[in-house]
Amino acid sequence: MTELGPTPPIEREGRVHLPVYARQPLVITRGEGCWVWDDAGNRYLDLVAGIAVNVLGHAHPAVADALALQARTLLTTSNLYYTLPQLELAEALLARSPFDRAFFTNSGTEANEAAIKLARRRGHDRGAFEIVSLVGSFHGRTFGSLAATGQPKYQAPFAPLPDGFVHVPINDAEALRAAVGDRTAAILLEPIQGESGIHPLTDEYLIAARQAADEHDALLILDEIQTGIGRTGTFFAFEATPVVPDVVTIAKGLGGGVPIGAMLVRESASALRVGDHGTTLGGNPLTAAAALATLRVLDEQRLMENATAMGGRFREGLQGVVEEGLATEVRGRGLMIGLETNGPVARAAMARARDEHRLLVNATGDATLRIVPPLTISSEEVDTAVSRLRAALATVGEDDWPR
Ligand SMILES: *Cc1c(COP(=O)(O)O)cnc(C)c1O
Repeated sequence: MTELGPTPPIEREGRVHLPVYARQPLVITRGEGCWVWDDAGNRYLDLVAGIAVNVLGHAHPAVADALALQARTLLTTSNLYYTLPQLELAEALLARSPFDRAFFTNSGTEANEAAIKLARRRGHDRGAFEIVSLVGSFHGRTFGSLAATGQPKYQAPFAPLPDGFVHVPINDAEALRAAVGDRTAAILLEPIQGESGIHPLTDEYLIAARQAADEHDALLILDEIQTGIGRTGTFFAFEATPVVPDVVTIAKGLGGGVPIGAMLVRESASALRVGDHGTTLGGNPLTAAAALATLRVLDEQRLMENATAMGGRFREGLQGVVEEGLATEVRGRGLMIGLETNGPVARAAMARARDEHRLLVNATGDATLRIVPPLTISSEEVDTAVSRLRAALATVGEDDWPR
């Protein structure tokens, strides 16, 4: 048999990578703003943004320049020494929040591991170790975060998981009060559940959680890994609610596209001591410099205001799609939007949008499309996205239901 040229990347990858990702048949080679290009040169409007990561869009010059300068200066030192970008990032995050101390990680799941360890450490001497979280939640893939994640499909293949994790149904204050007691170290909540389909917690529920935590001297930890960094129109989603948590975890958008996460803690909850926790690369100068540039542009370009304005425009447009009968519900806040499809056609709509309308959108579950574009998106791009999505939804139906 004759060789027909080089093996395409999709086939090559299939031979070498662990098959843990249900990857879409698309090789992305370049990005700019809200747009990405595939290896054939086609341009796509990107409403996924690395799953709520690229808050400034792709290839933002401020992040690129900060990375280039830092790479030529100092990449990493371990956390055995002091470094200035990490210090400045801690100061910048604490200055804009009610928290007193920061700890940096490489990912979201590690930020949650840190928060779980902090809560366990704080409750240790009085026997408070349980973490109460929600059915349908997503907190990450490492064992502690996975034990907190209330989804059997992620947990079951890895049982037994660590002990001491309790799950209660979303927005059911009675069930929460019943689950919280003297053994509770912390209540861990996403203000708006992302992975399971953009489900916001009600203000009443958050107030009940705050009260239950206070009554039992447990911590209220908010996982803002997806909702944070301006995505919902405020820097943290909790700023638009009546509660302030003791601990918040962030990641995804923080580095504007590079891997960095953080746990921010109020002094009253700050229970970890020298030697209790640590990381080699977490908060290294390179990723901290990218995060500092991201925060600067977020403010300079008033991107949180843009998230509110463009989120409103987007939901209005999608409401029109619902009224045309092409979808059933729009949820979310700012640029964290969920669109409920007519039956289990979200994956089909995602594929149709990608292949026929050059629009990238993410299916979270059978019947929900997740829309988390860069916070830099323009009104023209929102309108283009709505019309492409409408066109894709108009062509899916019962034939596309999973069998
Ligand atoms: C993505 C996500 C995580 C996990 O973050 P990784 O960086 O993938 O480890 C945890 N919690 C929430 C709410 C998330 O959206």
